Amino acid sequence: MGEALTKKIDIFAISTDPIYIGTGGYTIGRVDNTIVRDPITNIPKIPGSSLAGTWRYYMALKLISEIKDKKPDFNSTEYESHGNLKEKFERYKWKNEPEEDGKKWEYWKYNKIARITCAGQDESPNIEINETPSSKTGHCGHCIVCKAFGFSKKDISSQGMLFFSDLHILFFPVYTRFGTKWITSKRILIENGLLENGESKENNEEKAIVLENPSENNKYINLGWLNLPYEVRSINIQTDKLKNLYELSGKDIVIVPDQLLSHIINSNLEVRTSVSIDPITGAAKEGALFTSEAIPRGTIFSGNIRIFKRLNDDTLPEIKLVCEALEDSKHFFETLGIGGMTTRGFGRLKMSSLNYKENENPASGGENGES
Ligand SMILES: [Zn+2]
Repeated sequence: MGEALTKKIDIFAISTDPIYIGTGGYTIGRVDNTIVRDPITNIPKIPGSSLAGTWRYYMALKLISEIKDKKPDFNSTEYESHGNLKEKFERYKWKNEPEEDGKKWEYWKYNKIARITCAGQDESPNIEINETPSSKTGHCGHCIVCKAFGFSKKDISSQGMLFFSDLHILFFPVYTRFGTKWITSKRILIENGLLENGESKENNEEKAIVLENPSENNKYINLGWLNLPYEVRSINIQTDKLKNLYELSGKDIVIVPDQLLSHIINSNLEVRTSVSIDPITGAAKEGALFTSEAIPRGTIFSGNIRIFKRLNDDTLPEIKLVCEALEDSKHFFETLGIGGMTTRGFGRLKMSSLNYKENENPASGGENGES
């Protein structure tokens, strides 16, 4: 497929509600009592596929609300005679001539036929790419949402420019007699580049490590059901990476042995009891109580987004525009959330700034690779 530019952006997030993502993915309203876990560590996670599906919707929402009154009408008879589709994208101007034309990501020229159906599943995958402007349904196959997240039409398909990793738990809140502490492990800190060199990766002891002594009179810290001996060590954890997200100081952190992390997290998940409502009568179904587990609020996650762009393909937006589109639409996670049961007070997530540096040379910021 030729050479491509790559950019990797680290993301951090904190749940401001319990997060429920059932094993069925990101469908809203699904009732299931277990959440998605990493198959190796058995630790709950937010799958990259959920993140991608939700973000696609939010980017489309943001785009359409901005451009809805400014799109040229590709199907009016006035425009009919003006050559092929590619020429139309050049010639047909945004209505009301937005000053930002071509500079703001919303006014990238191929967004002129974007629509809300570019979010979600494509309802019209069997039409050809040049017929999408006259179709009212399905993915348009041209706009920044379709190009960034991928689309598939009868004659062409594209896997998209964005690849989302899973969001893994970085710090997990647990109630202790010393107040709420955020647990993590050495492996997690090292994988995320938060631990300074000199600390051995192994932590096979059965002890927790605290950075400041919470009490002179205690030798144990209770992490939910588990009472663990602890020792005090001065370890420098680079929490400044989370600065624009949450102020986590050393005294809040407890490093637990890797082999205990999954047990502690899984026994301290949020568990809620709900009642099933009969959709016909609107009344509670008899005996239809069910419990749901969820990742609690205050959990801090980490992950990354990789962006690929084939060189010399001017039908793709610049990486910078895609980053801006992600940044400008991520605030919807704070209000509309991710995952299931968002109408029951679940799902809100605050995301860190994506830290895209415009002056950074993409070729040196990432690695060149084949797409
Ligand atoms: Zn589209």
